[in-house]
Amino acid sequence: MPQHQSVSPSKVAIVGAGSVGATIAYACLLRGVAKQVALFDVNRAKVDAEVLDLNHGLQFVPVATLEGSDDVEVCRGAHVVVITAGAKQKPGQSRMDLATANVAICRDLLPKLQAVAPDALYLLVTNPVDVITYVTLKLTGLPPARVIGSGTVLDSSRFRFLIARHLNVAVQNVHAYIAGEHGDSEVPLWSSASVANIPLDEWAVPGHGKISASDREAIFHGVKNAAAQVISGKGATNYAIGLATAKILEALLRDENRVLPVSSLLSGYHGIDDVCLSVPCVVNRFGFETQLPIPMSPEEEAGLRASADTIRKAIRSLGF
Ligand code: NAD
Repeated sequence: MPQHQSVSPSKVAIVGAGSVGATIAYACLLRGVAKQVALFDVNRAKVDAEVLDLNHGLQFVPVATLEGSDDVEVCRGAHVVVITAGAKQKPGQSRMDLATANVAICRDLLPKLQAVAPDALYLLVTNPVDVITYVTLKLTGLPPARVIGSGTVLDSSRFRFLIARHLNVAVQNVHAYIAGEHGDSEVPLWSSASVANIPLDEWAVPGHGKISASDREAIFHGVKNAAAQVISGKGATNYAIGLATAKILEALLRDENRVLPVSSLLSGYHGIDDVCLSVPCVVNRFGFETQLPIPMSPEEEAGLRASADTIRKAIRSLGF
């Protein structure tokens, strides 16, 4: 099959051409996620340079076009708008510390984006992503299905990576989710974690070890502190979030019905209402379709409620 036939005939607009936005564009081009990719950033020199650099590699990827501008017009007609614009964590900062600045950016940006891309799905990446997802839902007035956050797709892939490494199995054979906030109150769903259909609780395989209580603690610590670890070494996280976002975009644009722990509005999920956070969802061309009733232990359910309370408190303190 010629390469271009696998590329979705769609347009993705990425807002913010910083470390994350530019890497999402790169991952989209490599994977043939969309026929048209647009980058929008207020920093003209930065967006021009990123677009130039990416365009110089177009020969080596599935057929696509890439344009960029400091004019929001570049986003016109996008099927999905990905928002990465805004402040990022500095060493020692939590994601929640970014809320006020990044909500102000959303207030300014969203009406402009809706004017040029009225039919788009919105995929939020800017942190604190659960708060920004909820605020975007309120500011745009869009149906909940059309507004999702990258949520704990990244945290869950960190979780799977660390479990896979500990057990010396391929990460693709590990099924495990981080639920709740993409941030400090997130919850590892150990009770439903499995490797090749073997519940992790029962996993004890010669040559591949098992996971003790202290291993669990170390693994979850690794997940929770992953961003800080990467940021302290290179100032930003970009590759894994770039790949994770490209995967979410594929699920949306190719109507995949893929199960991903994106951030979405909960209404009566395990008794939780009126907050955006991550649980495994079916993702397709309508956005998120269904939040799956994943089984949880009483501790996990309590953790999810506490996480919901943390996010809701932040949302309320911002006046939403
Ligand atoms: P960055 O500073 O490298 O890039 C941010 C870009 O946004 C800059 O180029 C800036 O010019 C642009 N920008 C600012 N205001 C804008 C506006 N009004 N319109 C258009 N562009 C604007 O930061 P980064 O490392 O790319 O991180 C971006 C965001 O993504 C941060 O909030 C970060 O915390 C978040 N992030 C989220 C995840 C996740 O899993 N959800 C992972 C990594 C980073």
